[in-house]
Amino acid sequence: MGKALIIGCGGVASVAIHKCCQNSEIFEEIMIASRTKSKCDALKAKLDGGKTKIHTAQVDADHVEELIALINRFQPDVVLNLALPYQDLTIMDACLATKTNYVDTANYEPLDTAKFEYKWQWAYRERFEKAGITALLGCGFDPGVTGVFSAYAQKHEFDEINEIDILDANAGDHGYPFATNFNPEINIREVSAKGSYWENGKWVETEPMEIKRVYDFPEIGEKDMYLLHHEELESLALHIKGIRRIRFFMTFGQSYLTHLKCLENVGMTSIEPIEYNGMKIVPLQFLKAVLPDPASLGPRTKGKTNIGCIFKGKKDGKEKTYYLYNVCDHQECYKEVGSQAISYTTGVPAMIGAMMVMNGTWRKPGVFNVEELDPDPFMDALNQWGLPWQESYHPDLVD
Ligand code: NDP
Repeated sequence: MGKALIIGCGGVASVAIHKCCQNSEIFEEIMIASRTKSKCDALKAKLDGGKTKIHTAQVDADHVEELIALINRFQPDVVLNLALPYQDLTIMDACLATKTNYVDTANYEPLDTAKFEYKWQWAYRERFEKAGITALLGCGFDPGVTGVFSAYAQKHEFDEINEIDILDANAGDHGYPFATNFNPEINIREVSAKGSYWENGKWVETEPMEIKRVYDFPEIGEKDMYLLHHEELESLALHIKGIRRIRFFMTFGQSYLTHLKCLENVGMTSIEPIEYNGMKIVPLQFLKAVLPDPASLGPRTKGKTNIGCIFKGKKDGKEKTYYLYNVCDHQECYKEVGSQAISYTTGVPAMIGAMMVMNGTWRKPGVFNVEELDPDPFMDALNQWGLPWQESYHPDLVD
């Protein structure tokens, strides 16, 4: 079928690249390009010998000119951005300049403000339309599959969805007192920010971790979960008709929260640069350097994740509830691709999104969030590529 340029070679990228190689009919050739080329070469060495031809390159994705040169050299059908949210706009600029399709898993966030929202990337809509290329935003699990689940529920199960609760549970245990399951800097920025949810046409803001609920998750059991702001709330509020409330909850264990509170109290989670020995350092970036690399958690993490959406709405004039979720086993993921389930649940949809753009199923000019496109082929692909979904018509609801 064609060629994909994958930018970044961390936890999520590694899974997506394994999956591209399993799907060599679509991904005939890939280029892995990242800041540290040795990581790309190590992954290539591990995966070489299959049907997908793998190239590697060094690139600093903060520089548009470097990206343009690389894209012109490799001529990919799609660029799959699996670097960090800070690089979204430079990569989108390079895609525009070279008329290349674009897919990512997280929305743009300026380095100096921990505020993630879609306005910067939605501002590219007209330019992508005019250039005749597709940008697919937020195609991981959450955001990503949660948007596909919402579009599927809207298409097949409801006349009108009034409430969505997105529940993200990780019952995995890595045995460390404190570690994050994906990029620590991005993860800590997300969980130490104020919480918020969408209700009756406006945002309701909460203190960090102010709202706690206990939920009995299928295949995982009872967990404490906390309301967070999460990026898909913004796009779902716009794209799901009749929506009155959307909330996002994530599970955290007591040890994680105690460590986080302590790190916050001593100033280690701050993103304000400080002067140290004549050098400017950002405490959170320093903290990232001393924490375990999320990629190293794979062999140690045992247990399962359960991520899904509970919908409440109306069908044929009657009230209805519906729960769509995926359960993923950390050790199974590790056996298959050498990573834990958090990277797996993000990397698989990223590969699927790139495939949908490459094979034309989801290719149309403009900038889209996943829930704006037909969910059916994506739902089939989830079952096929390792993230089978389950449904329940009588779920417990979150009060
Ligand atoms: P990692 O930190 O493991 O990997 C990031 C990769 O990007 C590294 O290889 C890093 O290179 C590379 N990189 C960073 N800056 C640059 C740059 N300027 N130029 C080129 N490469 C660069 O992160 P994850 O794999 O955990 O996360 C990847 C993305 O996935 C993030 O945007 C994250 O927010 C998103 N995500 C989305 C989820 C979802 O469900 N939607 C869930 C989890 C994550 P180096 O090796 O040199 O550091």
